[in-house]
Amino acid sequence: MTTRTPLMAGNWKMNLDWKQGLALVEELGETLKDVDTTRVETVVLPPFVDLRTVQVAVDAGRLPLAYGAQDLSAHESGAYTGEVSGPMLTALGCTYVAVGHSERRQYHGEDEAVTNAKVKAAFAAGLTPILCVGEPLEERQAGTHVTYTLAQLEGGIEGLDAAQAKSIVIAYEPVWAIGTGEVATPDDAQEVCAAIREALRALHGDEVADAVRVLYGGSVKSSNVVELMDKADVDGALVGGASLKAEEFAKIAGYQ
Ligand code: PGA
Repeated sequence: MTTRTPLMAGNWKMNLDWKQGLALVEELGETLKDVDTTRVETVVLPPFVDLRTVQVAVDAGRLPLAYGAQDLSAHESGAYTGEVSGPMLTALGCTYVAVGHSERRQYHGEDEAVTNAKVKAAFAAGLTPILCVGEPLEERQAGTHVTYTLAQLEGGIEGLDAAQAKSIVIAYEPVWAIGTGEVATPDDAQEVCAAIREALRALHGDEVADAVRVLYGGSVKSSNVVELMDKADVDGALVGGASLKAEEFAKIAGYQ
C-alpha cells in the first residue's frame, strides 16, 4: 500500500475523436462522484485534437480530473511540421504528459536521448512528465528486465535537478503486458517498481525516492488493480484499454 497520493492515468492512445472524448469525460465526471478524488489523483491523456474539448468540459463542469497529452515535441517552437510543443499543452491547461511510451519507442524510433530531451521540454513548459519504461518479452525471459528498465530510467532522467526528479512520475510498463490482457503479477510489478525507487535513491537521495510516484501499466483493469495497489512501491496505474469506459476507469480510480 502506497504512502504517496495514488495516481490513476488513462492513456486513450489513438482512440476517441473529440465528440467521443467529450462524451467520455462528461460520463467520467458523473461516475467519479462516487470516488473520493481527494485521495486519488485521476488523469486522462486524450489525443491532441481532443484536448481543447476536454479543457472546456473539465473547466465548465469543475470535474475532478487532470488531463494531459500522450507525447510532446522536444522543441519549444518553430519549423517542426506535425509537432506539438510543451507550451501549447500548458496553454490548454494540461498538467501531465506521457513521455517515452513503448509505442513511441517502438514505432517512432524514440531512443533515450529523444526521451530525455522530451522530459526536459516537459519540465521547461511546466508539465509533469510521466516517463514510461519497461522491458520487452525477450528481456523478461532472459531475466534482464530490471537492468533493461533501469537503463531506460537513467537515460530518461539524466541531467534533472532534484526538484524535477522529485516531481516526475515513472510508469513501469512491461511491453509484453500492454494491450495483451496479460497483466504482470503484483510481485513482478513490485520487483521493478521497487528497483526504480532504489535507483532514484542512489541518484537523488531519500527525499526524491520517497516522493516519486511509480505507476504500473499493462492490462490494468478494475479486477486486478486492488492487488497491484496492495504493493508498497506501486503508486498508481497507467491504464490503456480500460480507461476508455467511464464506469471501468472510475472503478479503477476508486479501487480502495
Ligand atoms: P493497456 O495499455 O492498459 O491497454 O495494456 C497500457 C498502456 O499502454 O499505457
